[in-house]
Amino acid sequence: MSGAPANFHDLTREALRLQVVRWGFSPVHAARLWAYVYLEGVEAWAEMPELPARFRTRAEAELSFTRLPVATETHSRDGFTRKYLLSLADGRRIETVLMRFTGRVTACVSSQAGCAMGCVFCATGQMGFARHLTTGEIVAQALHVNRVLRNPTCNLLGYKATGAAAPERLRNIVLMGMGEPLHNYDAVMAAGEILCDSAGLSLGAKQVTISTVGVVPGIIRFADEGRPFHLAVSLHGATQEERAALVPVAKKWPLDELMAACRYYSGKLRRRVFYEWTLIEGKNDTAESAHAVGRLLQGQNAQVNLIPLNPTAGYGGVPTGREAARQFQQILADYGLPSTVRQRRGIDIAAGCGQLATAR
Ligand code: SAH
Ligand code: SF4
Repeated sequence: MSGAPANFHDLTREALRLQVVRWGFSPVHAARLWAYVYLEGVEAWAEMPELPARFRTRAEAELSFTRLPVATETHSRDGFTRKYLLSLADGRRIETVLMRFTGRVTACVSSQAGCAMGCVFCATGQMGFARHLTTGEIVAQALHVNRVLRNPTCNLLGYKATGAAAPERLRNIVLMGMGEPLHNYDAVMAAGEILCDSAGLSLGAKQVTISTVGVVPGIIRFADEGRPFHLAVSLHGATQEERAALVPVAKKWPLDELMAACRYYSGKLRRRVFYEWTLIEGKNDTAESAHAVGRLLQGQNAQVNLIPLNPTAGYGGVPTGREAARQFQQILADYGLPSTVRQRRGIDIAAGCGQLATAR
């Protein structure tokens, strides 16, 4: 036996199989254990009667489950959003958000405690970087949201599970919580693989969106590895100067390199790139900015998701209003660019984009 137990949720199904075989047990036990955890939501060794006692004893000694106890839970007034402050084993905390939209539930998951990228309007950026999350810590956030949904007393607005109703499943994951996913590439990709595993939660790879601030080497690696997940790129500025003023890492990975990486990704995988644009009144929401976006992205397989600025303590900007956002969209449409304005959700509980922060 090795030293400290490894973390079960860090392992892909294949890694678990190899581990179990290394202990001298049948891979059938690995498959059953995986199904207990990821299909049936069981995380207690005593509740796995179909596994032989000898195997369970060994597994329990070797593997532990990631637990992220809820430190605080807040519900938005409209009933659509819930925010969970979750505790990590080392005492740090992260935030995970459950969002109900018509017909689907999305979990907004963190990839790091804090963030090193320092975007001026983002509360996570304002708090700085604490550490990367492990694969298990990312997976466990999604499992937490899934457990909330499966609980018949969940009572999410418009989604009251009755005793008789089949438990609803989590269908969408966005890595848009705290942190920069491509700065924690390996842990994030393994977590995506675990969540999409067809013998487990079975999320569609297209239902997992990875949002990046524009880590160029990560985008190229993502393309080269042919990762199946959706990719969203935070743009916010259509010239190097405008972007670098909001997103400091643009100095490291300039706009022209970012655009080249996005074209490479889109061409290689034949996929659309989803660009995110936080709309800040008078700053990057003018007709001039919209034309600059249009010129920059014209001809690309791209869609622009506009996010009116959410308030944070460290940034004084004002969100663009509905009419100005519509005009921005109209200009993009003139360049053949589809766009959406993101529904504002959970602002009253600071669960909106860029509002997640904890004491480090
Ligand atoms: N680090 C990743 C993912 C997390 S942030 C990234 O930056 O893409 C998710 C999205 O919220 C990003 O597009 C980010 O730019 C945006 N965002 C950050 N702060 C915001 C704020 N105060 N208001 C609106 N959107 C914000
Ligand atoms: Fe980090 Fe994304 Fe926030 Fe920028 S917007 S500081 S990359 S979490």
